[in-house]
Amino acid sequence: MPLDAAELGAQFIAQEVEIYGREAILELREGRAAAKPPIVASEASVPEAASLEEFHGKIKDCLNCALGYTRKQFVFGSGNPNATLMFIGEAPGQDEDEQGLPFVGAAGQLLTKIIGVAGFTRDEVYIANVLKCRPPNNRVPLPVEIESCRPYLVRQIDLIKPRYVFCLGRTAAQSLLGLNESLGNMRRKTCRLQQAQVFVTYHPSALLRNPSWRWDCYEDLKQFRAIYDSEVGDKPPMQELEKKTNLRI
Ligand code: URA
Repeated sequence: MPLDAAELGAQFIAQEVEIYGREAILELREGRAAAKPPIVASEASVPEAASLEEFHGKIKDCLNCALGYTRKQFVFGSGNPNATLMFIGEAPGQDEDEQGLPFVGAAGQLLTKIIGVAGFTRDEVYIANVLKCRPPNNRVPLPVEIESCRPYLVRQIDLIKPRYVFCLGRTAAQSLLGLNESLGNMRRKTCRLQQAQVFVTYHPSALLRNPSWRWDCYEDLKQFRAIYDSEVGDKPPMQELEKKTNLRI
């Protein structure tokens, strides 16, 4: 969605403060320092690549938006490059920024369980995020950052060609599907993106904060498995959530 000038201006100032610090911006405003070149998000030019590995190598030093200047590591994604099933989260957190891998912190441990309940292992699926760089203090990604990074995710999906994609949480679902709807509405939709059938469920961090939502997550997994079993059908029955703690850390 296009951003109006006021929104873009506010985002630009917030990013400058994140990169240079509040004091530096005040110095600039009061004429105590020389202006630094502005960092503005640019439309990612997506390089050609024949494989995921080659694509990673070509985009790993990205500075298309301000997050490139505050990240420790570029978090491309991990898993099976030929995965049938792909999971997409929001953005790297502190642990991911330090290790350069997606979903390695507490939310990641829960995601591993979710993947297991669906009948898969982490090595079988591919895991990526809408943003490849951590927003400072884990704030919600800005629209300008999503717009800048989205072409990378689209190309990743093109290269992996998953048959099924799970969006984890509202940010992933809205940005991937181009919808401005609540998570509840999107969970009930069946959508297609590129060649994949898209499912939407809660973000694992939201499940950690609200454990009672895991039952709804389980229903989302069941809906996916019903379709997967009728189309592919190579998995044993889905694990029951026998104990209340099953999807808890
Ligand atoms: N949350 C996300 O959305 N992605 C990660 O990689 C980790 C936490």
